[in-house]
Amino acid sequence: MVEKKKKIVILGGGYGGVECTRKLEEYFKNDDDVEMVLISEDNFLLFTPMLPQAAAGMLATRDIVMPIRTIIKKTIFYEGRVKNIDPHGKIVNLWGTDERRGVSIHYDFLVVSLGSETNFFGMSDVEKYAYTMKTLNDAMTVRNRVIDMLEQAENESNPILKESLLTFVIVGGGFAGIETAGELMDLLLDASKYYPRIDKSDIKVMVLEALPNILPGFDEKLAKFAHNLLTNTGLKLD
Ligand SMILES: Cc1cc2nc3c(=O)[nH]c(=O)nc-3n(C[C@H](O)[C@H](O)[C@H](O)COP(=O)(O)OP(=O)(O)OC[C@H]3O[C@@H](n4cnc5c(N)ncnc54)[C@H](O)[C@@H]3O)c2cc1C
Repeated sequence: MVEKKKKIVILGGGYGGVECTRKLEEYFKNDDDVEMVLISEDNFLLFTPMLPQAAAGMLATRDIVMPIRTIIKKTIFYEGRVKNIDPHGKIVNLWGTDERRGVSIHYDFLVVSLGSETNFFGMSDVEKYAYTMKTLNDAMTVRNRVIDMLEQAENESNPILKESLLTFVIVGGGFAGIETAGELMDLLLDASKYYPRIDKSDIKVMVLEALPNILPGFDEKLAKFAHNLLTNTGLKLD
């Protein structure tokens, strides 16, 4: 017997992959000959615009994620990391681990929506030493690190070391960088109340941007407004 069912496999449970799955589910809702599979390494959709707020503790991590299984209806979900795609055999292979069997999934149609990777523009030192702000783990790591810096600075008697512990540099004055800088500044100013030996004026948050203005692509007036607002809170924009 000839297999009639067609399988659509969607890779990536971010905005692109989840929205695509929802639209295809709607389109094929009465078509039992179409089977859909969504594969992503996490079983939740992450609201990236709110990551800086999670890093600053303004929002709890559970408030910025939505379980994918609560969004999809007839799609089969696999939590796993894509290892490679074989376009000739029409197969997607998922990594196996000690605890998880590697899986191979056949597709008739494939949607690749695996997002992007942070671009360090060839600066290997930045790539090695800087923190990124892209995943839930990143937000928690940054938060823990910032609080650790306050803890260390509070009891640091060497003024040069203390200054370096309280200097935070954000690379990139785009949307994510500016939001992260603003949230970080709020977190630091708020938390510093509990560190009697840290003066607010000791804390430095800087944004480094290669272009002459922050928020490129935004309306100039809005970018200027954000610039003034942030510099008034003590943030340095270079
Ligand atoms: C801090 C921050 C703030 C932002 N703010 C805004 C904003 O306010 N407005 C706006 O429009 N955009 C904003 N963006 C950009 C927005 O997040 C992206 O444009 C959007 O997420 C892109 O969607 P995507 O589905 O292509 O990729 P993603 O959302 O990155 O999704 C990709 C998915 O694929 C999964 N994946 C990746 N590799 C694999 C693999 N090998 N195997 C299995 N799964 C894999 C990932 O886990 C992820 O779930 C922001 C981004 C950041 C980082």
